[in-house]
Amino acid sequence: MQLYNQQNIKIYNTLSGEKETFKSITDGYVGMYVCGPTVYSNVHLGNVRTFMSFDMIFRYLQHLGFKVRYVRNITDAGHLENDADVGEDKITKKARLEAIEPMEIVQRYTVDFHNVLNTFNFLPPSIEPTATGHIIEQIELIQSIIDNGFAYVVNGSVYFDVHKYNESNEYGILSKRKLEDLIHNTRALDGQSDKKNPQDFALWKKAEPAHIMRWPSPWSDGFPGWHLECTAMSTKYLGDYFDIHGGGMDLKFPHHECEIAQNQAAKGQTPVKYWMHANMLELNGARMSKSTGNYINPAELLSGDNDIMSKAYSPSVIRFFMMQASYRSVLDLTDAGLDSSEKGFKRLMDAVNLLELLKESTTSTQDISKWKQFCYDAMNDDFNTPILIAHLFESVKFINQIHDGSATITATDLEMLKTTIHAFIFDVLGLKNSKKADNSSDKLSGAVELLIKLRQEARANKDFALSDQIRDELAEAGIQLNDSREGTTFSY
Ligand SMILES: [Zn+2]
Repeated sequence: MQLYNQQNIKIYNTLSGEKETFKSITDGYVGMYVCGPTVYSNVHLGNVRTFMSFDMIFRYLQHLGFKVRYVRNITDAGHLENDADVGEDKITKKARLEAIEPMEIVQRYTVDFHNVLNTFNFLPPSIEPTATGHIIEQIELIQSIIDNGFAYVVNGSVYFDVHKYNESNEYGILSKRKLEDLIHNTRALDGQSDKKNPQDFALWKKAEPAHIMRWPSPWSDGFPGWHLECTAMSTKYLGDYFDIHGGGMDLKFPHHECEIAQNQAAKGQTPVKYWMHANMLELNGARMSKSTGNYINPAELLSGDNDIMSKAYSPSVIRFFMMQASYRSVLDLTDAGLDSSEKGFKRLMDAVNLLELLKESTTSTQDISKWKQFCYDAMNDDFNTPILIAHLFESVKFINQIHDGSATITATDLEMLKTTIHAFIFDVLGLKNSKKADNSSDKLSGAVELLIKLRQEARANKDFALSDQIRDELAEAGIQLNDSREGTTFSY
């Protein structure tokens, strides 16, 4: 385990537009908030990529020894169509179309979201709060913004006064937009006549009589604005000023811009030290869109049940593919790309399995400490996973050379090589070297588990011939055994 203070991490901060040296607000601790899904439909593959980027960041910071409190919310109310202040609530609309309760929609798609993320081996966040569970906090926040003179009430709704705010603050500081340009570029829409200015945004909306999801407030029976929930939940669990706020690139404006404005207006300070944004996932060189048919969802990609890819891809191959690009680059999902990741992933896993067979020597022909530091340097450079993976592939070369006798390694270096490879591949990148019984044949898994047990007994009895025979014959049948400190797993 590396100690966090030995590493010099640089993070690209959207706020400054530069890579900055990461220094957490409280030494040894990191508070990280990531905008979660609005649970009105199956999770989009692009969102899976965004959450995977932050899962990797969460994993790396924990690996370094930081105590990380990772908060990722569930939006279960207040998110209107087109991310606007008018129109129907996305969840209510879906509930109306399917003639079920809004909370049934929320439950169904929250379960789907968790299932998909589990399939891709995500770590759960430390706290996963919901918007509907924090209505009181949101009402209190609105009251503070009103008390400080940055919001006004019209017909039971409350709006944030962007023009007033901009007199003493900089609206657009994150997305690098100027209010004058926004004024020039926005049209007044019908239904927004309650607002003083079209740039103002809703903190609280009075509910129409037919609106099901509603709560009492000092202003009306209604519901909170979408931007507000993230300010309420992030600061409740991480404090008024916290380390990292993440989300997809598309949330930078207006969502995150409004979060900064709300916090500044309510508490007199900017909420976040490092703003991080994950880039888009495209499909065959174009934006993914259901309406054009250039679209694939996680389940279709995993099952192979689609017209876009030539076959099914495993969760680890898809995860490996996503990790082969920097989280800040646009990533183009293609069959050729996935196929090449599948081959690369297999080479990597073959090397991991081969690690167990390497013989120790009195000298090392490779500088393992230096290689290890290169791996850390890659991750410390704004979590540069493609460079890390390039270094891991260099280790594949060493491992093969050591195995065929053209290179040697000492016992200490071999231990370091194993520990480092396992840490980066499994703990940090979150890849898996085994298929679990639940997505393969239970009977086959049971039989292989029995052979693993017999092999362990053979090894305990120093019957290495039998132990090797079990391993080699399974390998011939296409089943690889992978030994690690946690025990033996298998893949095929
Ligand atoms: Zn948010």
